[in-house]
Amino acid sequence: MADQCVCTEELAILGGPKSFSVDPGTISTWPIITEEDESAVLEVLRRGGMSGTDVTKLFEADFSAWTGMEFALGYPNGTESLRAAMWACGVGAGDEIICPSVTYWASAAPALALGAAVNFAEIDPDTLCIAPGDIEHRIGPRTKAIVVVHYAGYPADMDEIMEIAQRRGVKVIEDVSHAQGSLYKGRLCGTIGDIGAMSMMAGKSLAIGEAGMMITNNRSLYERCIAYGHYERTGARSHYNPADQQITDDTLKLYSGVPLGGFKHRMHQLSSAVGRVQLRHYPARIAVIQKAMNQFWDCLEDVPGVKAHRPAKDSGSTMGGWYYARGLYRAEELGGLPCAKFAEAVRAEGVGAANAGANAPLHTHNAFHTADLFGVGKPTMVAWTDRDVRQAPGTLPISESIADIVVGVPWLKQDCPEIIEAYAAAYRKVALQADKLLA
Ligand SMILES: *Cc1c(COP(=O)(O)O)cnc(C)c1O
Repeated sequence: MADQCVCTEELAILGGPKSFSVDPGTISTWPIITEEDESAVLEVLRRGGMSGTDVTKLFEADFSAWTGMEFALGYPNGTESLRAAMWACGVGAGDEIICPSVTYWASAAPALALGAAVNFAEIDPDTLCIAPGDIEHRIGPRTKAIVVVHYAGYPADMDEIMEIAQRRGVKVIEDVSHAQGSLYKGRLCGTIGDIGAMSMMAGKSLAIGEAGMMITNNRSLYERCIAYGHYERTGARSHYNPADQQITDDTLKLYSGVPLGGFKHRMHQLSSAVGRVQLRHYPARIAVIQKAMNQFWDCLEDVPGVKAHRPAKDSGSTMGGWYYARGLYRAEELGGLPCAKFAEAVRAEGVGAANAGANAPLHTHNAFHTADLFGVGKPTMVAWTDRDVRQAPGTLPISESIADIVVGVPWLKQDCPEIIEAYAAAYRKVALQADKLLA
C-alpha cells in the first residue's frame, strides 16, 4: 500500500494539501432506508396501530429466530431493557452490579434507580471491553450481576467472564447495544450470558428508531421482565391490546395488570415495523460493513501508532456492524505524540471522524458518588449498604486514559475501495510524519 501513499507531502495541519479530498458520498450513511421501511411504517400509521403490540410481537418472533433465543421482548429504548434485565436478575436496594467504567451511562445508571451500587471494573486496552482479570475480586455478598458491554462491536471475553460468574453465582447481563450481529467464537453476542439487552436507537448499528430488545432463554427472567413493565402481557387487557397471559409464575400472577416497576415498557410500533424490515436486511448489510472496515484496517496494517480494534481473523469472532468504529492509538510508537494532537492532524487532512477518545469513564462521575436519588440523606451508592464501592480518580488507569489510547475512524457502510484507501491514507500520512508534530 505504501506506493499509494502521499506520505511525503506536507501535513495539512502544517499548511500542506489535504490528503482526503474525494467525495465520500453515502459511504457512512446509516441506516439504509428504502420504500420497504416507508411502507411498513405507513401501514401501521394508517390503521392507527401505533400503540398495539401485534407488530412488536412479530418483530420479537423475528428476533428470536435470528438469535436462536427462546424469548425476545421489545422495549421503548435500550435503557429500559437494561433496567428490566437488572431487576429481573434480582438487583435491588443494597445490591451491587459490576460494570466496565468505559461505556454509555445506561449500562450502569439503571442500577442506581433500583437502589443498587455500581462497582466499576477496568477495561482491557486492546478490546476496550471489561478486563476479565478485574472482575472476581469485586464480587461481594450482594453482587447480583455483571454487565458486559461488547464495546464498539468488539465481543467481550465471554468464556472467562461466564466461568467466573457461574462459579460465583452471579448473573451476566450482556449489553449488546454496540454489537448486534457480532460473533464471539461463532456465537452471537447477547446469546451467551443469562440475558441480553440492547438499544436500537437511530445511531446504533441495528438502527430502527427509539427502541430496545431483551433476549434470553431463561423463562423466569423473561416473566420477571414482563411483570416489571409489560402490564398487558400479564393477563390484563387494555384499550389497545387484547388480554395476553405470558406469565406462569403464580407469585407474579398476583400482580396482573399493574407493572411492578411502575414502568410502561411497550415498544412504539412504528419502530417495530422499521425493525422488522431492518432486521431482514441486517446480516447482508453488516457483511458489507465488515468487508469495508476490514479493508480500511488492512491498509494500515504496518503503520505505527494506530492499530485495528478487531479480533484476530481466525478467532471466529467479528465486530458485527462495527458501531462507533474506533482505532487503538499507541503514542509510544509515535514518539509520545498525544492522541488529541494526532486526531487533530488527521481531521485537518479531511477526516472528520478522527476524534480522540470514547465514552468518558463513569467511575469518577458525580452520579456514582454523591447523587441521592431517593432523598434519604445519603448518596444512593451507599444508601442501603455498609460496603462503599465508590472509586476515586487513579483507581482505573486504563479507563481514565481512554482519550489517550483510542481514536475515531470513519464508520464505513459501503464497499468503495478508493474512498476507503483515501481515508486510510490520511491516517498513514500523519502517522508517518508524526515527528513533525512533536514540539
Ligand atoms: C445507546 C446505549 C444504551 C442505551 O440505549 P438507549 O436506546 O439510548 O436508551 C445502553 N448501553 C449502551 C452501551 C449504549 O451505547
